[in-house]
Amino acid sequence: MVLPIVKYGHPVLRKKGERIEAITPEIKKLIADMFETMEASHGVGLAAQQVGIAKQLTVIDVRAVTDRPSTLELDGKPAEVDSLMPLVLINPEIIPVGEPVAGPEGCLSFPEIFADISRPGAVDVQALDAKGRPIAFRCGGLLARAVQHETDHLNGVLFIDRMDKKTKAELQPELDDLQAATKKGLQKK
Ligand code: ZN
Repeated sequence: MVLPIVKYGHPVLRKKGERIEAITPEIKKLIADMFETMEASHGVGLAAQQVGIAKQLTVIDVRAVTDRPSTLELDGKPAEVDSLMPLVLINPEIIPVGEPVAGPEGCLSFPEIFADISRPGAVDVQALDAKGRPIAFRCGGLLARAVQHETDHLNGVLFIDRMDKKTKAELQPELDDLQAATKKGLQKK
């Protein structure tokens, strides 16, 4: 089921996600629905907060993006990125390992707003997968960017918080409009 995507201005986007302690049927359904929702919107990643649920759960799939490479290391050895896709991260913990790299970013909760964001070029990731099994890997490129963007969501942090001041100031009128439209929509309900 494709779920409505929560837009900037909705308070759930600022909520820290609760840890997931068990892979219940509800969580399995949520994971399936989040993949469907992300694919319908042609996104690379989607966090539970973006469908209105503050939990430590995100789904990622970088396979549709061919012009921005990703790298993957498993147990210290290079691995095929596709072997990890589609990716479910539950309760993820990340440690930056690379120098900051600037790159373009968007967010399904901020339609038509894009900006260059500086983030570490690689990260070590520990999480649980869709079956609740521990997984660990190091990634770089687009995948590292997506993992950091989505992990931020799980902590109530948005990509506008990572923009440099000048970029954010330039986008502020659009951000204000989006926030106002979202709040207006919430009042109607
Ligand atoms: Zn986002």
